[in-house]
Amino acid sequence: MSTVTEQTITLHRPRATAPAAPKAERWSVDAIEALFKLPFPELLYRAQTVHRENFDPTKVEFATLLSVKTGGCSEDCGYCPQSAKYDTGVQASKLMELEEVLFAARRAKDAGATRFCMGAAWREPKDRDIEKVAELVRGVKDLGLETCATLGMLKDEHAQALADAGLDYYNHNLDTAPDFYGDIITTRDYQERLDTLARVRDVGVKVCSGGIVGMGENHRQRAGLIAELANLDPYPDSVPINNLVRVEGTPLANQEPLDPFEFVRTIAVARITMPTARVRLSAGRQQMGDAIQALCFLAGANSIFYGDKLLTTGNPDTDADVQLLARLGMGQSQQPAGKT
Ligand code: SF4
Repeated sequence: MSTVTEQTITLHRPRATAPAAPKAERWSVDAIEALFKLPFPELLYRAQTVHRENFDPTKVEFATLLSVKTGGCSEDCGYCPQSAKYDTGVQASKLMELEEVLFAARRAKDAGATRFCMGAAWREPKDRDIEKVAELVRGVKDLGLETCATLGMLKDEHAQALADAGLDYYNHNLDTAPDFYGDIITTRDYQERLDTLARVRDVGVKVCSGGIVGMGENHRQRAGLIAELANLDPYPDSVPINNLVRVEGTPLANQEPLDPFEFVRTIAVARITMPTARVRLSAGRQQMGDAIQALCFLAGANSIFYGDKLLTTGNPDTDADVQLLARLGMGQSQQPAGKT
């Protein structure tokens, strides 16, 4: 599945034979690194200004993530407990049945979620997998929820089948900067990720793509990740920013934690460079604490994964999220998509 390659800021490698005109680069890595280096109050002021121009800063979108097929993945993403290459205690499971998924989706809706994301730990789905996931998408949509799926790399026909089923968003993260990527994943390259995003976009499904920070990347590489995302044409509709959750048994289990203010800076820079995107606080919230989460909202985060479990790692419980927003005088975005 992977949230998310050997190239620079220029993005979609042409998949057709005709040569593509070079795309204008909206944000250079230098410009983004300069944002990262701003004094903290200045950076937050700029991010907050952009945020208010595009969204109600008091509202946060709630999205729920369900692992519909867990573990046993053939990829080697160094942060991921679902890779079959690491001994993390995650049991591999089959794709969940429709009724089980709909039960979870109804619960998520009752708890206030507006978007329901389904994740499957595949390198890429097979034809028969896509048929089943399309059924899940139709069922969840019928409940009145927005749908999102993260299933790994997609072929053209698979992207089309998901679009035909009414899928709203497809998540495929870039994970990190191109020049750090090979330190984290060796079983697929960066360009394959960009190609999947292009396929999704081509069939009219909105793109959800972000990355993970705190994996040992340097300052410039964090800027490089944001530059890749911000220079996608157009930039993603949803941008999940994950703080590494260090899982025993993975190669990154002993990684030094990232300075929490650097995480807040990453949120702020994502907001400034992708003004109308939903910037989502994703993995790592449980370790972050309330004060850093509040700073992230101030920096322009306006979506959270809601529920007590992400794919396989913990998440704050739903009551804690509701209480935190109440303490901040904030509330849940009622509109499932777009501006609030
Ligand atoms: S190892 Fe598999 S499930 Fe985990 S992030 Fe990579 S592709 Fe996704």
